[in-house]
Amino acid sequence: MSMHEVTIAEQEAHDAHEAEWGGFNDFPPNWREVDPYEFAYSQASGKVITKTEFRQMWHRKDDRKIDRSKGMLAARLFYAGDNTGWAMTTDFWAGYNSVKKEMVSDDKPPVRYFLFGCEHENDPDQTRQIGTYAHEYVCAKCGRHEVIDSSG
Ligand SMILES: [Zn+2]
Repeated sequence: MSMHEVTIAEQEAHDAHEAEWGGFNDFPPNWREVDPYEFAYSQASGKVITKTEFRQMWHRKDDRKIDRSKGMLAARLFYAGDNTGWAMTTDFWAGYNSVKKEMVSDDKPPVRYFLFGCEHENDPDQTRQIGTYAHEYVCAKCGRHEVIDSSG
């Protein structure tokens, strides 16, 4: 019998992640469905993936208990390491009527797109120039600092 020993550092990293982003059955903060155009736009800056995670997410009632009436959404989440992330769900049964056992025309999309985390907004009062070509931007919502060098 083998056992994976979780180090204190691993456990702390896990706890910190869960405190910020929720657990396996939670929607992460600011979870929102977007159309394919907004999803494409969200990827325009060439985001990197720093972590992926599979979740089965449930809505919760006021007492934090799972509300099964609204169904479960399973998705793989992609974290970009800049306080944002995205997810897609695929449904190969979309448009298939399992009672009639035939394809039917309905609006259920086979792929749905989601974003989560901060919707960054530059705080103009905190923007400053660094050197000749670079600017530092600070997000007014999450406080994230980003340096963009436009020297090409
Ligand atoms: Zn932000």
